Amino acid sequence: MGRFDGRVAVITGAARGIGFGTAQRFASEGASIAVVDLDESAAQEAAAKLELVDGARAIGIGCDVSDTAASEATVERVVAELGGIHVLVNNAGITRDNLLFKMTELDWDLVMGVHLKGAFNMTKAAQKHFVQQKYGKILNLSSVSALGNRGQANYSAAKMGIQGFTRTLGIELGPFGINANAIGPGFIATEMTDATAARVGMSVEDFRAAAAESNPVRRVGFPEDIAAAAAFLCSDEASYITGQTLYVDGGAKLG
Ligand code: NAP
Repeated sequence: MGRFDGRVAVITGAARGIGFGTAQRFASEGASIAVVDLDESAAQEAAAKLELVDGARAIGIGCDVSDTAASEATVERVVAELGGIHVLVNNAGITRDNLLFKMTELDWDLVMGVHLKGAFNMTKAAQKHFVQQKYGKILNLSSVSALGNRGQANYSAAKMGIQGFTRTLGIELGPFGINANAIGPGFIATEMTDATAARVGMSVEDFRAAAAESNPVRRVGFPEDIAAAAAFLCSDEASYITGQTLYVDGGAKLG
């Protein structure tokens, strides 16, 4: 018995990185998976790579989560093709880092659009099914950057916004059998952090080594670290936990 047998999980930004790692973990515990990402062929390729438990299925859907109509259509397509929806992971994300005085309006709007409006769009579309069936699990990706990070005024504001959004979902949706939580990852080795290394002019190896030195457990995180916490928070074992943000960061922000 897997914790997600018979469940359908929708994971945005799941063609790679943390989203893909989380999709693989949920699949290994029995879930059918909808991999949602900007590029439909990348989403379909990722879905085809998932190792599924017998009877489960995986599909890939191209969707820009900052587009309201596309998000609604995506949720309806998941329900039509996979027979329902039980778990939503709002993971899609981008960075447009710059110091405030150089940050453009477009950098601000793009980051808010994907992280905050994207989470709003997908959650609003999913919640009507969750409320109807009196069951649903929502997991939002925040970040340690929510606590403030030089060069990330847009991203930090969006990631702290995600925490307020999550708390409010917990309050509004709890009476309907729906749990909403967030994870705040620290440094996770993905293409997103590799791109940051390039931006600050460091090799990926040196950048990861520096990140490992900056936390008490002295290593960087991997998508599997986030996936393990995500699987717990979206499982029925966590049904008394809602509105919370769990930092999964090797203790980086402890002090
Ligand atoms: P990643 O490797 O860059 O993957 C993000 C995925 O999201 C990509 O496949 C990307 O597609 C997709 N995406 C971007 N915009 C989208 C949109 N509008 N609609 C649908 N999909 C979209 O990132 P990651 O490192 O796995 O991060 C995943 C989440 O964790 C993000 O929310 C991020 O902010 C958060 N996080 C990451 C870290 C870290 O250290 N890596 C730390 C804290 C929080 P394209 O490739 O086509 O752009």
